[in-house]
Amino acid sequence: MGDRLRKEPAPERGGAVLRLRQVHKSYRLGPVSVDVLSGVSLAVREGELVSIMGPSGCGKSTLMNISGLLDRPTSGACHLRGRDVAEMSDDERAEMRNAHIGFVFQSFHLLPRLTAARNVALPLVYRGLSEAAIQKRARDALDRVGMADRHEHLPSQLSGGQQQRVAVARALVGEPAMLLADEPTGALDPATGDEIMTMFETLSVAQGVAVVVVTHSAEVAARSHRQTCMTQGVLVETGADAASAGVDATAGAMSQSDRGSLPPPVPSRLVARAARGTASAARLRFNAREAAVSLRSVLARSALALVGIVVGIGAVIAMVSTGEIVKEESLRQFRELGTDIVRIQRQFARVRGRVLQMNLADVNGLASSVPAIEAAAAAVDANTQIRYRGRDLGQDIAFGVTGDFFHLSKLSLAEGRLVSDLDRHRFYCVAGAGIARAIRDAGAVSPLGERVRVFGRLCTVVGVLESVPPLAVGRQLVPDEAVFMPIEAVMRVGAVGIRDAIAQVRGDVEPEVARRAVEAHFGRVRPNLRVSVTTAGQLIARMRSQGQLFTLLLGAIASISLIVGGVGVMNVMLMSVRERRAEIGLRRAIGARRGDVRQQFVIESAALCLSGGVLGVALGVAVAWGVCRFAGWPFSVSSTAIMVGVAVATAVGVFFGLYPAHRASRLDPIEALRN
Ligand code: ADP
Ligand code: MG
Repeated sequence: MGDRLRKEPAPERGGAVLRLRQVHKSYRLGPVSVDVLSGVSLAVREGELVSIMGPSGCGKSTLMNISGLLDRPTSGACHLRGRDVAEMSDDERAEMRNAHIGFVFQSFHLLPRLTAARNVALPLVYRGLSEAAIQKRARDALDRVGMADRHEHLPSQLSGGQQQRVAVARALVGEPAMLLADEPTGALDPATGDEIMTMFETLSVAQGVAVVVVTHSAEVAARSHRQTCMTQGVLVETGADAASAGVDATAGAMSQSDRGSLPPPVPSRLVARAARGTASAARLRFNAREAAVSLRSVLARSALALVGIVVGIGAVIAMVSTGEIVKEESLRQFRELGTDIVRIQRQFARVRGRVLQMNLADVNGLASSVPAIEAAAAAVDANTQIRYRGRDLGQDIAFGVTGDFFHLSKLSLAEGRLVSDLDRHRFYCVAGAGIARAIRDAGAVSPLGERVRVFGRLCTVVGVLESVPPLAVGRQLVPDEAVFMPIEAVMRVGAVGIRDAIAQVRGDVEPEVARRAVEAHFGRVRPNLRVSVTTAGQLIARMRSQGQLFTLLLGAIASISLIVGGVGVMNVMLMSVRERRAEIGLRRAIGARRGDVRQQFVIESAALCLSGGVLGVALGVAVAWGVCRFAGWPFSVSSTAIMVGVAVATAVGVFFGLYPAHRASRLDPIEALRN
């Protein structure tokens, strides 16, 4: 949009680019107010080369800053190209600086990490030109100041004179109407200073740029068209043609020739906002690129601050993926178990010193007395060593089950036969796949007919089950590592009573309805016995809440680490802002708006956290894998988790970058440039 301002017809020759009228500037130092400028009037026309001399501290830089729209006068008027500067907003002033003013400073103020070409390109970056146009114009500007062979050099690889040439190229790359040079030759040897002055002469004479040079050198001043001197807060003409000077009380009055070159009236707010909207995407891109350049050096120093982010994002990833995996896993079990199964457990109750138990008749009678129930099976478990040829096998648990148990638990037979209610209390068993394998490993050709030792007695293997994943029936049951015997056999030697039963709900009945029916049934036939009936849905909910415990734990780790990491990043960014005051001041001087500076620093902070986030994603995937192993769930990397991790890292970066970015954007450019 700066270009919009540039594309206007050039003002006619002789129009005043800058007009100061009765400009006062005073600084308040405690109770006293110090007048630095006390009524400066000055008009600088196109193609004029004006020099300002004066002792150190007399206010020359102050005057330059006011002329360059970096500072506001305490009173008095300042018009740039006919527009009253006092009426402009901060952003408008930045745009005016960018479009109309080129600055050259005594200490060059090149950004050390950018090449000569990128330094020169900087003002155009804030103008929102296309990358190709920016590069071309930056190259041309460098060629014009005789730096054709130094485009890719860093400032540190250039001599003082060469750095100042780059600074001059940067000042003129935007084709400004006015060039403000504050002691531009002060740091240079006389010969190089001479060359710089020659460039200024060419600019003013050949291109009609208004040039104002502050200098301590009489030789430099002698080459200007008009020589002025600051004394006691006012500017006096000292050159031979003082009579024609614009330094007088009437200088502030606007002549018709200035008016002729006025830019069109300030566009209405709506138009201005629309223009900004289209440019803002381009600016975001440019600010992002500026951020990327600085990021490289910041990254090296902020490795420690990033640890918090890495751990935090890692925890986020682990949290989201385990959450997802638990969901998947519980759904799988839900399907495997069947939605039509209810589990019946007796609750502890004692009558006359005796613990009440369910008995076989209670379970076997369910299917016939509760219409909602299709079939029921009881299971008892007892701890016993399962031994075969002197080896311990399996989980040390023997189950006693009724005939329907296998069918209801979806356990199917691989070979041999199942135990049935007809086996009564015979010592027969069906072996889980793992047990069967162990028996084979111990040397048996087939487990069938082999005898394992349980409860101190020998028990014949009559069947082998297909291998199945662990089930959440009753307690976590690993069928592969257990043996299943007739329930009466186990009850006789090991188990006290029946604590667990499962029942299958009829297809047309809601599990919840069946659950209540079973409860009501027990209430009627065994009023003293207390049972709890759980549907598969409830079981799954329970499992999920187990998963939620992990989530909660990881969530706590994530929040703490992210806060610690975020504060660390904020600290790094604040340090960075302090170190880069000069850079920020310079960016503002050449036309960056506050928003640009803010955006650049927020992007830097976000990118910083994002790079930590990438490491965190890797860490989180590893942690999720570990958690799944621990809990026995299948592991998978979830894309949601990675997306959440990346989003959270960015959000943390933006959040903790806001304050440093705000600080950076509020820096006074003059203060920032001074050191
Ligand atoms: P010059 O460029 O001519 O050497 P300056 O314009 O930098 O002088 O400063 C003019 C005077 O204003 C100096 O006396 C300086 O101390 C004072 N001054 C400049 N900036 C400030 C400020 N922010 N607060 C108080 N005094 C200031
Ligand atoms: Mg100065």
